[in-house]
Amino acid sequence: MISEDRIRALAGHRGSCVVTSCYLDVDGRRHPRHADYETQLDHLVRQGRDKAAGFGLEAARSVTGDLDRIVTWVRSGFDRSGVRGLAFFACSADGFFEVVESPLPVRNGVVVNHTPHVRPLESILQAYERFAVVLVDRQRARLFRFELGELTEHTEVFDAVPRGGDQSGHPAQGSRGAAVQHHSDEVAHRHLKHAAEVTFGELRDHPVDHVILGGPHEVVVEFEGLLHPWIRERVADRLAISTTAGPDEVRQAALCVEAAVTRRVEATLVERLRDAVGAGGGVAGLEPTLAALVERRVDLLLVSDGYEPEGWRCPSCRYLGPLGRRCPVCANSMDLVDDVVEEAVEEALANKCRVQMVRENADLDVLGRIGALLRF
Ligand SMILES: [Zn+2]
Repeated sequence: MISEDRIRALAGHRGSCVVTSCYLDVDGRRHPRHADYETQLDHLVRQGRDKAAGFGLEAARSVTGDLDRIVTWVRSGFDRSGVRGLAFFACSADGFFEVVESPLPVRNGVVVNHTPHVRPLESILQAYERFAVVLVDRQRARLFRFELGELTEHTEVFDAVPRGGDQSGHPAQGSRGAAVQHHSDEVAHRHLKHAAEVTFGELRDHPVDHVILGGPHEVVVEFEGLLHPWIRERVADRLAISTTAGPDEVRQAALCVEAAVTRRVEATLVERLRDAVGAGGGVAGLEPTLAALVERRVDLLLVSDGYEPEGWRCPSCRYLGPLGRRCPVCANSMDLVDDVVEEAVEEALANKCRVQMVRENADLDVLGRIGALLRF
C-alpha cells in the first residue's frame, strides 16, 4: 500500500549500485488477461536493459538481475483485487527488492538511476480522491472511509426504534397504530439528526472529497436534508445498499462511484483545457505542450493514457521536442527517446506541476492527446 512514510523510506534508499524502478499498469478494466500486461512488461524489460547500458558493466548486470526478479514476481501471480498498478524498486547487487501495490493505475515506465524513482507514487498520493460511505436506515448508521482502494469502517450510530414501531417504514394499522407510527417516525427522525451530527463531526476532523449515501430511498432523502451543507455538496451518489451490507459489497459500490467521479473530474479538466486553449491560458498538442513545459509555464499537464510518441531530448539543456536532431535552444545534438511523453511527465513532476492521466476521453484525443493549463 502507498503511504507517505513508505515513499519517504524508498526515496531515502542509498545503495552501492543503481536501482531499477519499474511501473506496470495491471488495471483489470484495461488488461483483463495476464498476457495483456505481460507483453507490456517484456517491452519495459527491453527498455530497462537499454537504459542500464549507460551505467557500465556491473550496473548492467545488476539491472538484468532486477528485471529477472520483477518478471518472476509478476509471472508467479498476485492478487489483483484492488491492485491496478505495481511499482518495483530493485537493486540485486544490494539484495534490495520492494513492490508497492497501487489501488490507482500507474503509467508504464522504467527508470535506472542511483536512487529509487518515486515521483509517480508521490503524484498518486497527491491526486487520489477520498470518499466516505454512510449507510443509514431508521435506527442505524454506519460510516466508512474509502481511501487509496482501502475500505475501513469508522463509526456506527444505533438509536433503537421503540417497540411496535415498524422499521420498514410502512404505516401501522388503526388509530393506535397511527399514534405509534407517529412516535416511531419522530424517533427515526431524531436518529437521523443524530447520525448527521456524528457524520459532520467525523468528516470535519478528517475531511473527504466525496460522500456516498446508502440505504432505503426515503430514509436517504431525509438524511441528506439533515446533513451539514458542507457535506451535502460533497454527495456524489445515493445507492440502495442496506446497513447490513458486508465490506465487499460496500467496497464494490465505492469502486463504481469512484470510477464515475474520476471520469467526471477528467472530463471537467479537459473542458477547462479546451476553454483555456481558446482563451490563451492553455496549450494543446505535443509540440506546444512540450514547449510550455520547457519554458516552465505549465500548471497542470493532461495526458491521454497510452499516448507514447517518439521525440527528442537535449542532454545539455533538457529541451524536449518532437523533432531532432539539433537542439533549437543550444544547438547541441539531441537524443532520440522512444516515449517523449514519459520525459514530459517526468519534467512536469520534477517542476512540481500537477499531472493528470486521462482515460477514454475523446475530447482530449481531438485536442492532440496532450495539453496543459498554464500558470501565465
Ligand atoms: Zn539544448
